[in-house]
This record gives sequence, C-alpha cells and structure tokens, in this order.
Amino acid sequence: MPAARPGRELPLQRGRFCSGKRGSLPAQRPFPVIQKVVASMAHLQEEKLRLQEELLALQEKLAARESEELAVNVQLRGQVENLKVNLREQAQELSRLRSEMGGTDAEKHRDLLVAENERLRQEVKARDGELRELRRLQAACWDCTHLQENAGLQERLCQLQREAEEARAKLSELELEVQQKTNRLAEVELRLKDSLAERAQEEERLSRRLRDSQETIASLRAQPQHVKYIIKTVEVESAKAKQALCESQSRNQYLQEQVGMQRQVLKEMEQQLQSSQKTAAQLRAQIAMYESELERAHGQMLEEMQAMEDEKNRAIEEAFSRAQVEMKAVHENLAGVRTNLLTLQPALRTLTHDYNSLKRQVRDFPLLLQETLRSARAEIGQAIEEVNSTNRELLRKYRRELQLRKKCHNELVRLKGNIRVFGRVRPITKEDGEGPEAASAVTFDADDDAVLHLLHKGKQVSFELDKVFPPQASQEEVFQEVQALVTSCIDGYNVCIFAYGQTGAGKTYTMEGTSANPGINQRALQLLFSEVRSKAADWDYAISVSVAEIYNEALRDLLGKEPQEKLEIKLCPDGSGQLYVPGLTEFSVQSVEDINKVFEFGHHNRVTECTNLNEHSSRSHALLIVTVRGLDRSTGLRTTGKLNLVDLAGSERVGRSGAEGSRLREAQYINRSLSALGDVIYALRSRQGHVPFRNSKLTYLLQDSLSGDSKTLMMVQVSPAEKNSSETLCSLKFAERVRSVELGPVSRKAELTSWPSQEHLEGDVPGSSSRSHASPSPGLPSGRATSIRRKLQTSGKLRPVPV
Ligand code: ADP
Ligand code: MG
Repeated sequence: MPAARPGRELPLQRGRFCSGKRGSLPAQRPFPVIQKVVASMAHLQEEKLRLQEELLALQEKLAARESEELAVNVQLRGQVENLKVNLREQAQELSRLRSEMGGTDAEKHRDLLVAENERLRQEVKARDGELRELRRLQAACWDCTHLQENAGLQERLCQLQREAEEARAKLSELELEVQQKTNRLAEVELRLKDSLAERAQEEERLSRRLRDSQETIASLRAQPQHVKYIIKTVEVESAKAKQALCESQSRNQYLQEQVGMQRQVLKEMEQQLQSSQKTAAQLRAQIAMYESELERAHGQMLEEMQAMEDEKNRAIEEAFSRAQVEMKAVHENLAGVRTNLLTLQPALRTLTHDYNSLKRQVRDFPLLLQETLRSARAEIGQAIEEVNSTNRELLRKYRRELQLRKKCHNELVRLKGNIRVFGRVRPITKEDGEGPEAASAVTFDADDDAVLHLLHKGKQVSFELDKVFPPQASQEEVFQEVQALVTSCIDGYNVCIFAYGQTGAGKTYTMEGTSANPGINQRALQLLFSEVRSKAADWDYAISVSVAEIYNEALRDLLGKEPQEKLEIKLCPDGSGQLYVPGLTEFSVQSVEDINKVFEFGHHNRVTECTNLNEHSSRSHALLIVTVRGLDRSTGLRTTGKLNLVDLAGSERVGRSGAEGSRLREAQYINRSLSALGDVIYALRSRQGHVPFRNSKLTYLLQDSLSGDSKTLMMVQVSPAEKNSSETLCSLKFAERVRSVELGPVSRKAELTSWPSQEHLEGDVPGSSSRSHASPSPGLPSGRATSIRRKLQTSGKLRPVPV
C-alpha cells in the first residue's frame, strides 16, 4: 500500500483542476480494471460467505464433538473403577500430567492468542488508516467523474471491512472462551492439588495411627490379662481405624474419579483450543488473502484512475486549446459587434423613439378603440337603419311591382285575348290510307303562322286563328306557346286548355302525347314543379291533381275507388257561390313520378270501365284538373290556381250518319256538350250578363275556370287528309267563331245568341255565305295574308252570326 501513496497526489491535484472543467470532459467510458476489481471483490465476498459457512459447519462439528465427548465421559466413568485400584500410580500420573500439560501450556497458548490478537488489532488499525486515506482521496476528488465507481468500490470495501470486523469479533470471542477455559483449568488444578494434599495428610495421619496402634498391640500382648483387655480394646480400636481407612480409601477413590474427569475436561479443552487455533489461523490466512486482494484492487483502481486522469488531462488540454481558438474568434466577433454596436446606436435611438411613441399609442389605444367602436356602432346602426328602410322600400316596390306585373300580365293576356284559339294540323298517317283521299287538303301561309288554307270540295278556304301549328310542329313547340298560360296558374289564375276536333285529329296526342314525347299534360306539370321550385325561397306551394271523365253527361272520378259512380256538382254550402264535386279524389303530387302514377291509375280505371277504349275515349271528355295552392311567406298572400286540361270527345257529326240507339245518344250528348261549351265561350267573350254554364256538365264543372279573369285555350286539332276535309272545315269554323267573338266591340255588346250546334257547322260551307269568316277565295296567294286578316277582322267586327 505505501507504494500507491506517491501516485495518489496526482489524481488529487488533477481532480481539483478538472473539477471546474467538468463540462468539457470527453464522454464517460467503461473502466475495465475497476470492473475487474469489482468482480474480484464479488469473488472475495463469495469466498467470505463460503468461509462463514465453513465456520458454521465447524461450530456444528464442535457441538457434535461435545456430545461425543459427553458419551466418552460416561464411558470413562466406568473406567474410574479401575483407576481406584492404583491410587498412587494415578497420583504419580497426575503429577506427571501436571508437569507435562499444566496451566503453563494453556497460559502459553493464551499468551500466543493474545499476541495474535494484538497483531490483528494492529493490522486492523493499519487498514483503518489506509481506508481513511482512501476516503480522504475520494473526498478530494469527489466531484470527478470516477465518483460513482469509487463510491461503489468504497461500499464494497466497507462491506469487506465489516465482514473482517465480524471475523475479528468472532476471533476475540474464541479467545475469550479459551481464556475462560484456561482459568477454569487452573481452578480445577488448584482444587486437585488441595484435595491431593489433604488426602496425603489423612493417609499420613492414619498410617501413623496404625503404626501406633500396632506398636501398642505388640506391647500389650506382652502384658497379662489386663493387657489382654487392653489388646481387645485396641483391637476394637484397630477395627475403627480400619473403618476410617476404608472411608479414606473411598474418598481417595472419589478424588481419583474427580481427577480423571478433570483430566478429561482438560483434554477436551485442549482439543477445542487446538481447533480454535486452527480456525483462527484459517481466518488469518483469509484476512491476509482479502488484504492482498484489496491491495491489488486498490492498485488497479489507482492505475485506472491514473489512466483516466491522463485522459482527462489530455481532453482538458484539447478543450483548452479549442477554447483558446474559440476565444480568439469570439474576440474577433466582439470587435465586429462593437463596431456594429456603434453603427446600431443611432438605429437604437430611433427605435427607442418609435417604441416610446408606440407605447403612447398603445396607452391611448383603448380610448381610441372605444371612440372608434362607438362611431362604428353608430355607423353600423345607421347603416342597418338605412338597409332596413331600403328593404322596406324595396319590399314596397316589390309588392307594387308584383301588382304591376299581374296587371301587365293581365293586360297582355287581355291583349292576346283571355280566350285564345290555336289550330294544330296532325301529319298524314298510315291510317289515312293512300291515294288522292289521303292527300293533304291543308296548306299554310309562309308569312303568317296564324293562317291556314283548306281545300274543300275544290275550293280553298282560309282561316285565321291565334296560332297555327303545322304537322311538323313538335310537342315542345306547341308547349312553348302554352306555357305562359300554365305558369299564370301559379299566380292564382284559373286556366282551361281544351283539345277540340274530330276523332283521330290528334287531341289525345297533343294533351297526353306518348311516353317518349309527352304532351301538354305532363309538360305542364313538370313546368309547374320547376316554377314552384324556383319560387321556393319566398313561396310555399302545394300541387294536387284530379282525373275525371264526362260520358253521356255523367261525371266520373277516375282516381276514385268506384270510378263508375256518378258524381254531382254542387254549390259550396258556405255561400261563396263556388262549385265543388263531393267525392272527387284529389291526389297531392310532388314529382313527375307521382304524376305518372296518377295518370297510370286514371288510365287503368278508364280501361276497366269500357270495352273499347278508343271508341270510349273518343266519346267522352277526359279532364285533368291541377290545383296549385300558394302562400307568399313574406306577405302572407294566398293564391289558388286551377289548370284544367280537357281532351274533348270527338266532334265528328255522328248523328248525321244515321246512327241509332246508344250510338245516337252518345252523339247527341257530345253534340250538346260541345255546343254548350261554344255557347259559354261565346257568352264569356262577348261579356254577356248571362253565361249558360249549366247547359252541360262540362261547362258547369269548369264554371270557375271559364269565368272572371280565367284564361282559356282552345286547341283545335284537324286532320289534313282530303277525306276529312268536311270535319276539318267544321272544326276550323268552330275555332274561328270562338276566336272572332272577342275581336269586335260589337261582339262585346252582343246579346246572348245561340251557339251554332255541331250539326250546323257543316252547313256553313266556305263561300256559301257572306257571314262566314272564312276567305271565299280559294287559292289565295300567301302574300295576301295580312289583307285577309284585316278583312277577317273587319268581318269580325261585324256581329258574329249564329249559324
Ligand atoms: P284523337 O285523340 O283526336 O282521336 P289521336 O291523338 O288518338 O287522335 O291521334 C290519332 C293518331 O294520329 C295517333 O296515332 C297519333 O299518334 C297520330 N297523331 C296525332 N297528332 C300527331 C302529331 N302531331 N304528330 C304525329 N302523330 C300524330
Ligand atoms: Mg283521343
């Protein structure tokens, strides 16, 4: 250990030096030597444990031996009898034993042990000193990076020391025990000596007495009777002496036994002492071994620490040189910064100034903000007020505009005529056959789409309507002319669209169309849906439909559960004068799919009610009644408009062909109802006080939709085929008459006259009467259309002449 002392100075100094630069040390690395030391310590620890276990085993063995000795003791007691025989020999042996072993040997052993103990104590002291030195060293470099390893090692060392201490304590205990046993041995020897002396004295005394007695006996034997007596007495006394001798002998025997026992004990103690000495020697050897291990570990640790110190110093030096370089750079930077600082100072001054002014602004900001907010609030309030007033103004204007629009619309419709008459000529079809009969008898005016010419019986008759659709006109084109009427229904007007014409002229085609090319019915509903959707922001609308049929003046509900049931038209009981049909089914529809379902249902009911649909449908009026109810959410205004789409029965003159029975009856009903419709329209257009609505079921049912500011469109369907020219002529005449009524002021004032019946229409042949509105000049050039119109209008201004 002293060899390690000079090396300790360096780590101490370096440790101190490095303590301030700890941060610049290289990264910690493992210490293999210390690890080795730790491992050897652990090994030593294990060794120590093993030794402790051995010690325990020895102690156990000792205990076992003691018990064995006890047994031997008992055996020895048996042998005591033999020992009694030769007391002297035993005494001699005892003395011999005393001289051989005696207290002197035990004392020698004790002294040896004491000396050993003293030596051990000295060693422990020395170790303590070293430990203190180590601790001091550790404390000196407590903040170096080896702290943790050192702490671990110290802990190990402490543990080892504690264990050495324990071993020492055990040793001193053993020593104490040896001492005690030595003392006890000395005591026993003393007692033995005393008892031997006592016995010798007694023997001496008894043998003296025996000699005396024998002498006395011998002297007395020589004497007479008296002497004999005395001899006897002496003899008696001699017996007593013998008894005493016996007692002494037994006592001697007892003492012999005691001596034997003591010898045994002595032997045992000697054995124990030997074993203790052996253990102590072993422990000492172990301690020496530990110490050498410790020393080696310490040496390794110092070496490791030395190496680490070197490394640390190297790192410190490197760091130092690096730091110097950095310092130089920093100095340079500092110089640059200083110069920058000089230039920055004016900027700083301006910044400070700015900062102060900003601070002032920030201080004033809440006030400013409040002020601004107040003014902004006032402005916003004012703006809101202005917007409100503007809104009010706009709303007012909007309502006025609405009114105006309605007025304008009404005016427009009025100008166009509340009752308008369109003509549509269907194309020639296969059914028309071939040859001259199937040739087209209708021609059109290229410059005027309101005029058409009919070649009838070699003469061309011209007719002017509101609009004429040639065969090539598509459903779409037709509907475009109609859609204004349809949309007016949304505004709350009642609208009637009639398809008039002979069977096969295209009425159903125009109204219903085909699924690929739908007619007015479906297009009207589609338009209504889209219009309603576009107005959804302001208006709530509900659209419902009814499908009915009038056959032989009987009204049937085609959507009802019992389509064959005849319905009645009644006056509303609320006294409003309105009509209604109790039991007429009304389906609410919201999409095209709904309409299709309704049509399908109506069609199905119509089919099941008749044997021949074509015939039946041509002899009945089919009605699709669409009701549009609206609510203007902003104004609360409610509107109800009705759109009546009527596919009329065929207008052909069946009655004239000599029909009889039910066929005739059907023809009469049809004729009457179509005449009644003509009458009503005529009365309406000529603004007559009385309108004969009640003359037929059809007009009675449509009373609401024909009167007032309702709008009516008569779509007159004609066949262009030569063979149908008579019927075409009738239809066109009907159309022209309907239309012409309104055109002249006279007609307005005209009194109610009877509408020409279907039967009479035929008689009104072109050119046959000056009362006809048709142009009497066949083959009139188209360029003259305008003059014809003028002429027609002039003739229209004259009174309409009932045929
Ligand atoms: P109505 O209902 O007047 O008796 P329809 O509508 O049944 O007559 O028409 C008779 C035939 O003529 C049908 O086959 C129909 O498809 C056809 N038709 C009518 N008008 C047109 C048209 N504008 N374009 C093509 N075909 C038409
Ligand atoms: Mg039809």
